[in-house]
Amino acid sequence: NMITNHMSTAELQKLDAAHHMHPFTDANGLAAKGARIIKSAKGVYLTDSEGHKIIDGMAGLWCVNIGYGRPELGNVAKRQMDELCYYNTFFQTTHVPAIALAAELAKIAPAGMNHTFFAGSGSEANDTNIRLVRRYWQVKGMPEKRVIIARKNGYHGSTMGGGSLGGMSPIHAHGGKIDGIHHIDQPDWWSEGGDMTPEDFGLERARQLETAINEIGVDKVAAFIGEPIQGAGGVIVPPATYWPEIQRICDKYGILLIADEVITGFGRTGNMFGSTTFGIRPHIMTIAKGLSSGYQPIGGSIIHDEVFNVVAEGGELYHGYTYSGHPVAAAVALENLRIIQEEGIVEHVRDVAHPYLAEKWHALADHPMVGETKLVGLMGSIALTPNKATRAKFAAEAGTVGFKVRERCFANNVIMRHVGDRMIIAPPLVITPAEIDVLIERAKKSLDEAY
Ligand code: PLP
Repeated sequence: NMITNHMSTAELQKLDAAHHMHPFTDANGLAAKGARIIKSAKGVYLTDSEGHKIIDGMAGLWCVNIGYGRPELGNVAKRQMDELCYYNTFFQTTHVPAIALAAELAKIAPAGMNHTFFAGSGSEANDTNIRLVRRYWQVKGMPEKRVIIARKNGYHGSTMGGGSLGGMSPIHAHGGKIDGIHHIDQPDWWSEGGDMTPEDFGLERARQLETAINEIGVDKVAAFIGEPIQGAGGVIVPPATYWPEIQRICDKYGILLIADEVITGFGRTGNMFGSTTFGIRPHIMTIAKGLSSGYQPIGGSIIHDEVFNVVAEGGELYHGYTYSGHPVAAAVALENLRIIQEEGIVEHVRDVAHPYLAEKWHALADHPMVGETKLVGLMGSIALTPNKATRAKFAAEAGTVGFKVRERCFANNVIMRHVGDRMIIAPPLVITPAEIDVLIERAKKSLDEAY
């Protein structure tokens, strides 16, 4: 009674619903209608248990940057597992994969960001960041500086720390949030900009940071955290005025700036980091996902000398994960970074995004229910609306239009996600023009069928 790839889809789905509790999934829905079983993947295509070939417009969960099925990574993993399957990096031991990966990250990160603290995921890395920035101010003799300002509808993971930094009320509603996190409004012009120009709106939203610092008291604020582009929130690309103003305010008040690059890192926006694309100068960058292209679970915090030196002055940081710098994950991440760099994948993103994908993506606005279209590198969103002029929203109950489009996408063998009334894409960075054609054609068909 071994459970194998050869069992029928229905049998596997039944076992899945009976024993496997899924993240972010309604278990009742799963019992009623089984999950789609993905069996294999190559390049930008998934194959399910019924043999359908599905184009993956989301790179898994925004992570398979180099595409599926690169044998080099498996080979490296096997070699590393045979040589040193595990050893920790606590208590004055280390190993070559962790050293090599940390050194490589220092090379590709912005100037001055020379230190990486490893974690198993993006959520864990953001938990590390909470401790790091609070410890930084403690060592500097200002222990009351511990509030972190973040944004509503931001996403920073789903551990208690990451979920608290994130500004998603459904997550807060399930179990609460930790203290000392304050949320300001997001820079989503389409949904919340009203009559303002995007430029004015970007400034207004950024200046909420200054207002919050003054209300809370600069002597209590440790840091600001934001994703260069909100990903899980719906690929919200901020107006051009937003990040320069955030940067100015962080500089003026001397608070630490954390750029959560879990999605935007490693080429997604057409530069190695989203911070470069938006001119952000972070003290800490959260990384995960594209760090290993999802081939192994690994995340981390890339830390500027300024923060590292202060924390180091304070002696031991009481923090670490069994799998911090896991040798197999680190070796795989290093091989992934070699492929990204040697194969010019970041340059490929720029080449294929503009004008090829951009023209097709923005042309989706010709569809009667598509409003704003946004694309930066290979990260895009379209806002669905019943009225483009008023930027109205469809009704929010279950079975929304976004949900319907997602269902049609599923049926048409293209993975696109919906976040409220936005449809979003973030395909593997190696997608070719011909594959972009398939993605767009299936997206259009799905929009038409849902209309
Ligand atoms: N930060 C951002 C910006 C993310 O998009 C995510 C995951 O989607 C996370 C953090 C959490 O990463 P993980 O799911 O690896 O814990």
